Amino acid sequence: MALPYYDLRCAACQTAFSIKATVKDRTDKSISCPDCGARDLETIYRKVNILRYKNKDCDVCPGSSAFSGGCRGGACPAGRV
Ligand SMILES: [Zn+2]
Repeated sequence: MALPYYDLRCAACQTAFSIKATVKDRTDKSISCPDCGARDLETIYRKVNILRYKNKDCDVCPGSSAFSGGCRGGACPAGRV
């Protein structure tokens, strides 16, 4: 099973790094900053994921699309416009 890649940034020294880790590693905070060793890490959300998501039809409102003026005209119950 492929491990997910996390893009993380250290809250203490602002070092950004990518790491392969299990979800458990992430939730257990067993990942530490490679630079200073702090475990207070923020997840960086990649822009590419957001773009891919915006190009996708809303899975809550079938037939809707981000290209047609927003999901349900911006009234998507899931907030996915
Ligand atoms: Zn650090």
